[in-house]
Amino acid sequence: MGRFNDFLNRIAKFLRGRNGMDRMAKDLYVFAVILLVINVFFRSSFFHLLSMIALGYSLFRFLSKNPNKRQIENRNYMVYRNRVFNSLRFVKRKWDDRKVYRYYTCKNCGQKVRVPAGKGNIEITCPKCGNTFNKRT
Ligand SMILES: [Zn+2]
Repeated sequence: MGRFNDFLNRIAKFLRGRNGMDRMAKDLYVFAVILLVINVFFRSSFFHLLSMIALGYSLFRFLSKNPNKRQIENRNYMVYRNRVFNSLRFVKRKWDDRKVYRYYTCKNCGQKVRVPAGKGNIEITCPKCGNTFNKRT
């Protein structure tokens, strides 16, 4: 038990002040593992190299002794990650609602506008900027 505690203490000491597994390190790790599994079928040396780079960078983040810098990087990564997930969520919602609603983007201000489907040719007024445009729904 004493030797095991020594071992745990040594690990705790080794990890002190390090960044640990942040979201970016976790995602890189998952990405690398998925790529390795896919590569069982493709056997591409490029995929292998890419997964090793992702794994290496994940480990680097985990063991980094500059957590302040890593936290800034992780925050920037989270902004990008949320943007990707939000647009994926929107694609799913568009697909789920396809029989009931149509989604259009206002060309004037970029606002997304939801209108009922199956109403034929209608004039749509943007709720944000008041721009009008015609669409078949
Ligand atoms: Zn608009």
